[in-house]
Amino acid sequence: MEIRVNESTCTGCSLCKGACLYDAIEIKDGIAVIGETCVFCGACVESCKFESIEIIGLDTEEKDFSDYKGVWVYLEAHGNEIADVGLELLSEGRKLADKLGVPLSGIAIGSGIEKNAMITFQYGMDKLYIIDDPVFENNIDDIFSKALVQLISKHKPEIFLAGATSFGRTLAPKVAAILKTGLTADCTGLTIDDEKKILLQTRPTFGGNILATIITRNARPQMATVRPHVMEKIKTARDPGDIAVDVIKIEIDPKNFKTKYKMLGTETEKGEKINITDYEVIVSGGRGLGGGEKFELLKELADTLSGVVGASRAAVDSGWISYPHQVGQTGKTVNPKIYIACGISGAIQHLAGMQTSDIIIAINKDPNAPIFKVANYGIVGDLFEIIPMLIKRIKDGKPLV
Ligand SMILES: Cc1cc2nc3c(=O)[nH]c(=O)nc-3n(C[C@H](O)[C@H](O)[C@H](O)COP(=O)(O)OP(=O)(O)OC[C@H]3O[C@@H](n4cnc5c(N)ncnc54)[C@H](O)[C@@H]3O)c2cc1C
Ligand code: SF4
Ligand code: SF4
Repeated sequence: MEIRVNESTCTGCSLCKGACLYDAIEIKDGIAVIGETCVFCGACVESCKFESIEIIGLDTEEKDFSDYKGVWVYLEAHGNEIADVGLELLSEGRKLADKLGVPLSGIAIGSGIEKNAMITFQYGMDKLYIIDDPVFENNIDDIFSKALVQLISKHKPEIFLAGATSFGRTLAPKVAAILKTGLTADCTGLTIDDEKKILLQTRPTFGGNILATIITRNARPQMATVRPHVMEKIKTARDPGDIAVDVIKIEIDPKNFKTKYKMLGTETEKGEKINITDYEVIVSGGRGLGGGEKFELLKELADTLSGVVGASRAAVDSGWISYPHQVGQTGKTVNPKIYIACGISGAIQHLAGMQTSDIIIAINKDPNAPIFKVANYGIVGDLFEIIPMLIKRIKDGKPLV
């Protein structure tokens, strides 16, 4: 691929330079010059009013993907339990499948998972492909990717979704690379383009400052990963006993699934075991707290609400509280019933991890703090005065807000 500027029509107007997010364009002697950091995104081509930029060698041929049908969700299992992220993706996958008018299928691979895999039918799934064999006892990506590639190549789903867990982040790129298709990691939004019937995959980019919508133009399946708790897990009204289940059991020959890895053992991470995503109330503190010992006040409020303490990255980086408490793009994604942000400005990277909370209460002494834009209830003032008042209200049996 090559990008060229037509020097006879370029006016040096700089519009392209402004459009390039990769700082690849300089204006030299009144002409745009494109440097090596260009990633061929095409933004400058669209911005140039003089049609002076051209990308040569782009694959513009429309391919026929009509034999690819259906939405598939990889149902990651830990031991013989199906992880919640798979159920969240089924709930999201249901919406995509309905928009496309195609079936929604799950694919579960593991050892002794069949019984637990049945609960996934409660999340809107039409069909379950299952490989249940002792060779898949441990989540090891080389044999799991082999199994997935075989199934995807045979059944040709148009969309394939997986959780952006540590295993999913290893597995999905491997599958995408073998199938020679694209993969959008850590999506925060998925929808279908009404006209073209393709998957629009939205994810934060440039440190979370921009939301990019990505499409997979020339390959199938369209693959995306989504972090746990970003999508809502929605149980359909159906009773487990009433569901007509369509289960396709796939028998494999274990000889064909020999891993090159050897599992020596597993060790549970030492240190704090808290999982803040398990709580319905999170009281988070940021730099506005001013010190680690001040988290005691937040803990008191959290305890009165049977909740847990969360934190911004600024508080974690300051060493005031440990990383498992961090909420945001590089921390946990949470969606509790109540999220109380105390002394947190509301940087986009923080919002990325909590803005889907049901009710957001923000306490900040700066009335212009961006956190107030996403808050359902905003309290402008000093958190050290407001939090004790809130604790008293709750202890007096009054509602929080
Ligand atoms: C790639 C990348 C990833 C990132 N990932 C994350 C992430 O996962 N999570 C995250 O949180 N951040 C993340 N960040 C950092 C983020 O950009 C912000 O720097 C951070 O969220 C700021 O934390 P803060 O709101 O606690 O601090 P500040 O922005 O400094 O805000 C402190 C707030 O406290 C208020 N305040 C001060 N005193 C009081 C008081 N007495 N009473 C009430 N209010 C008071 C102030 O008005 C201010 O609004 C990331 C950044 C990058 C570049
Ligand atoms: S936008 Fe077009 S005309 Fe303007 S500097 Fe860039 S290439 Fe030249
Ligand atoms: S194609 Fe994209 S990266 Fe390359 S110069 Fe144009 S805007 Fe910049």
